[in-house]
Order: sequence, then C-alpha cells, then structure tokens
Amino acid sequence: MHSLSATPSPATAQVMPPSVNFHLWEPCNMRCRFCFATFQDVRKDVLPKGHLPKQEALKLVELLALRFQKITFAGGEPLLCPWLPELVAAAKARGATTMLVTNGSRLDADTLARLHGVMDWVTLSIDSMSPQTHAALGRAVHGKALPVEHYLTLAERIRAAGMRLKVNTVVTNLNAGEDQTAFLRELRPERWKLLRVLSVEGQNTGKVEPLFCPREDFDAFVARHRGLEHDGIVLVPEDNEDMRGSYAMVDPAGRFFDNVQGGHRYSAPILQHGLDAAWSQVQFSIDRFVGRDGFYAFGGES
Ligand code: SF4
Repeated sequence: MHSLSATPSPATAQVMPPSVNFHLWEPCNMRCRFCFATFQDVRKDVLPKGHLPKQEALKLVELLALRFQKITFAGGEPLLCPWLPELVAAAKARGATTMLVTNGSRLDADTLARLHGVMDWVTLSIDSMSPQTHAALGRAVHGKALPVEHYLTLAERIRAAGMRLKVNTVVTNLNAGEDQTAFLRELRPERWKLLRVLSVEGQNTGKVEPLFCPREDFDAFVARHRGLEHDGIVLVPEDNEDMRGSYAMVDPAGRFFDNVQGGHRYSAPILQHGLDAAWSQVQFSIDRFVGRDGFYAFGGES
C-alpha cells in the first residue's frame, strides 16, 4: 500500500502518469446533480460550443497518444460527438489503449460496430439498480432513466464486441444503502470504480450538497460489496481525497486541468503551448495516482 502525499506537487514531465482523461465534449443528454464535469465555465469563458473543432481534436489526440499509454474519452457524453470514432482510431493507430466513459443512452449496436477494433474498454456509468433513484439523481434523459435490462444488454454487447467492461458508480446518500451485488454479478465488469460523491467548486456546487454521503456510509457500501472480488470483479473505491490531484485530465478546450484546490484550474491550451509547458501548469500527485490503483494492467491481461 502506498502512502498518500499531503499536498500534490507541481507537475513535471517526469511524473506524467501513463493515462489521461480527455473530456472532449461538454454537451450531455443527462443532468446528474453530482456531475463533476459540467464545464459550464469553459463554455462561458473560452469555448461557446463546448468542444474543439474536429481537426484540432484529432491533432490533440495524436499529441496525447505520443506521451500517454492510455486515453480515456469522457465528456459530457462523448457518444454525442459525431467524430468520436475517428478520435479513438487516431489514438489506437498510435499505440494507445483506449477507453470510453459513457452514460449508455447512445451505445447502440451501430455505434459499437463503428468502435469495433479501436475501442479497448467501455466504462458504463451506473449508480443504482432503481430507475426511480437514477431519475432522482438526474441520471436520466428528459427525466426518464434507463431500465436495468438496458444496462445488462449493453454489458453483453460490449463483451461480444471484444471490448473490456468497467463500471463507474457515484455513491451518494440516495444509493449508499443499496446492495447491488446481484446486479453487478450479472453485469460482470472487470473493474468497478466506486466514487464517493465529490463537491467541485464551479462544476456541481449548489446542486450536489443534498447528495453528500458520510464517509462511514461510503465505507459501508464498499464493504457490503467486497464479496464481488471472489467473482473476479476488482473493486476500486475512491474517497474524496483520492480523487484530488490524482488524474491527468484535459478539458473540452484542450487544456490540462486539476481539481486540487476544490475547483478546476486550467493550463494554457496544449496545442498552442505544448504538452510539457501545459502540464507544468497543473498539480498532480503520482503517489495519489498509485494509491487509487491507476497503474493497473489496462493494456494487457487483467
Ligand atoms: S452522464 Fe456523465 S457527463 Fe452527463 S451529467 Fe451525468 S455524470 Fe455528467
């Protein structure tokens, strides 16, 4: 077990981690009240459309793939981006492991076919087995949550397409009491990330507070599901301090950002200033990255 450093140090090229999350697209068709990545500040200040033009996004992905072994395509909802398959193919062609984080509402058979051969991992964001709870959380399209059967079908389709499956769950006071063991056994992800709801200034403050989950409730949720490890599912719990300064993240405007001080702090644009110069402007802790199991075998056998 690695110790967590008290304060993340200024990032340097030497401590660049092997993986990066590219939040390529601000628009989303869901309205999760806890969403850490709403990017309304980005839209208001620098990028009214909420995403880079296609050619710039492609250049950025090519640059990221030179330095990061894994690129996670996140949003917003990345499947709303018409050129996502081209971005993923560009990353794959340069040798990167690729991952998608999706709310699952747009992952139909055609989309999976377009991503076949270039997408290595799919992460489904699922917080509850109850559509009512999802609707109350805002994990719903026009107020309508996806049925449980939809997620189970998606999991099968993802595996059938040769992609590896991960699930992300945000633990709030609305789902912390659930026992999701049977559901996860049916879904059968390789990894299940459990995130304790986090307040991020300027992203979800003003909406997230009623969802706060006490640490003991989060710990109890994790403990209740530990038995899933006997089924081959790796549990990856992340409490609030594990999530700060432990990710390399790029915003829809093509800038690194960190969340060390409570809100997002953005670097200069990577395409204009270069990877190293932009990276030196955010804070990152490799110890925290290691502490949250960031070094798992994402490219090979699990
Ligand atoms: S689906 Fe994802 S990006 Fe969209 S609102 Fe929910 S957490 Fe945010």
